[in-house]
Amino acid sequence: MSAPAHHLTRQIVIAMLAGMVLGVALNQLGAAAWVQTVLVDGLLKVVGTLFVSALKMMVVPLVFVSLVAGVTALSDLRALGRIGAKALALYLLTTALAVSIALGLAVGVGPGQNFDAGDSPATFSGKDAPPLTQVLIDLVPTNPVAAMAEGNMLQIIVFALLFGVAVTMSGKRGQHVLNLFGDLNTVIMHMVEWIMRLAPYGVFALIARTFASQGLDLLLPLAAYFLTLTAALAVQAFVVYPVLLKSLAGLNPLTFLKKMRDPAAFAFSTASSGATIPVTLHTVEKKMGVHNSVASFSVPLGATINMDGTAMMQGVATVFIANVYGVDLSLTDYLLVVLTATLASVGTAAIPAVGLVTLTMVLGQVGLPVEGIALIIGVDRLLDMMRTTVNVTGDAAVSCIVAKSEHAFDQATFDDPHAGSVEAAIQPATPPHTAA
Ligand code: ASP
Repeated sequence: MSAPAHHLTRQIVIAMLAGMVLGVALNQLGAAAWVQTVLVDGLLKVVGTLFVSALKMMVVPLVFVSLVAGVTALSDLRALGRIGAKALALYLLTTALAVSIALGLAVGVGPGQNFDAGDSPATFSGKDAPPLTQVLIDLVPTNPVAAMAEGNMLQIIVFALLFGVAVTMSGKRGQHVLNLFGDLNTVIMHMVEWIMRLAPYGVFALIARTFASQGLDLLLPLAAYFLTLTAALAVQAFVVYPVLLKSLAGLNPLTFLKKMRDPAAFAFSTASSGATIPVTLHTVEKKMGVHNSVASFSVPLGATINMDGTAMMQGVATVFIANVYGVDLSLTDYLLVVLTATLASVGTAAIPAVGLVTLTMVLGQVGLPVEGIALIIGVDRLLDMMRTTVNVTGDAAVSCIVAKSEHAFDQATFDDPHAGSVEAAIQPATPPHTAA
């Protein structure tokens, strides 16, 4: 029963590559009108959208149930504060590190120095970020059902935490609720595994459609920006997280990266860390061995506030736009960029393209024109896919480090290359009684 886990990952990778080939071919060869209607805007759109909808369908029930189950599994409620503080500190630290690396690389490479801004007639109007006071006020939902209906992750987290603590403190009666949520968690994870089984089809459709509609020709004039950011993202994924995992938790980074392949493929094809939460949570718990009491909190929190890849994009984009407009940034400006991009990452919603909206905050902070965003918008989808992959990898890495430090980590699961196979998920857990 062990090999199938590999089969699925391999199928997803093949589906991604096949989707890219088909998408680029359609784009370059120019699809006939009927191909566009039937295939790109028909079949691929339906399959891709259904897949993302199915993932999103699971997010709210999964986060709520899993978090209540996680909190009630903690033997000591003080651990909750510790886990929260550690996760928050690591999320902010990794993001600040990410922007600094991105800035350093961008200043070294200097993208945008010979860029002709006249080529881009597009405009961009920014949106103001909510003030910090409002972010704090909004933490407590006035109506938890509305919070769930709107998918407001921070409010759901706050309500689930309080509910979970109350369950723990309600003695014998709370015990029934605790058992119920433990069972619900298993059921919902089972549903997530169904969706993961469908990933090859969903990923194929999403990637093919994206590449069919996003020409690669836009890339050329922005190659310096694109490549600098890609290099920065690669450093974060393949150097920073591995070093942190090894030094802070003594974990083998190669095993970690191998196990990240499924959530990485989901993040890449959906460009949404929010929609990827079910897969990240499944991987972190079932494949990496992070206990539910840590993962159920750190993963949705990370998806909401930890966006290392997005902050990197904001760092490189700031330098690029400054170069295009011939503005010299001072050291204070760079420090401001680190600070604002870190905070902006907290305020960036975990859905496609929002990183560009919060980039207005960063540009505004150092006096750069918001219209500069129009210059990079054309290549943003592909970069969004890549930075979302890094965002999600950061969430998983921090979850592992926090769990290890809290002794809420199963090393045997982490070391087992076949742990967490979802192949069995389409079968009932115990065979139903049949008359035969
Ligand atoms: N798409 C990103 C995410 O969901 C956010 C962004 O950078 O636009 O993580």
